[in-house]
Amino acid sequence: MSTTPHILVVEDEEHLAFGLRFNLEAEGFRVTTVGDGLAALDVLGQADDPIELVVLDLMLPGMSGYEVCEKLRQRGSSIPVLMLSARSLSEDRIRGFGVGADQYLCKPFELPELLARIKALLHRFQSGAAQSPTESTVSVNGHEVDFDTYLVDGPEGTQLTALEMKLLRYFLNHPERVIPKGELLKEVWEQSPNIQTRAPDQFILRLRKIFEDDPSHPKHFLTIRDAGYRFVPGTPST
Ligand code: CA
Repeated sequence: MSTTPHILVVEDEEHLAFGLRFNLEAEGFRVTTVGDGLAALDVLGQADDPIELVVLDLMLPGMSGYEVCEKLRQRGSSIPVLMLSARSLSEDRIRGFGVGADQYLCKPFELPELLARIKALLHRFQSGAAQSPTESTVSVNGHEVDFDTYLVDGPEGTQLTALEMKLLRYFLNHPERVIPKGELLKEVWEQSPNIQTRAPDQFILRLRKIFEDDPSHPKHFLTIRDAGYRFVPGTPST
């Protein structure tokens, strides 16, 4: 694999596409730009010089960014997708995650923010890909989680939402480590780490209900007082 990540920018506004290419190349990435979804899927299907990350505009002529992302995931690709949108509505964001986007950034954005997210995604993908390139299910305390359907324990089981799935994914990617609440707010909710909210606590209560043998005595989704949360994937020794 090349040491210089190859990024595809899908953006129909030429000045923005140009600016993205310029800045990403300045950071040492190799960049291909296309202006619509069909061309994007074409480039993503090529075997030689494969793309390692997609920066995908939502509003495109013809096929929307949602459709591009959905089609990409239907092909079985797990390539990181960072969606760009001029729309900041939470419905759009949730729909973006629903079709399999990994990150969602609203225009106008600050360049350092975009670069930080691209680097984080590449890092996460490269470390995750080494473990399970094609695995679409994972077992959490004996419960099967399907990453394609967001179902736990099959069709008769529990349906996770996009955000619950995102939180779970974050825990799975950061096992054993104490994760501060602010980090979850930033990485999963994409909010300022300093906002006052009980959202992470509520989501963790829900994950406990689904995955813990005894939700009132959790062994996997732990709250560490005054520090944050810790996910323990293994079966505790008895
Ligand atoms: Ca556009």
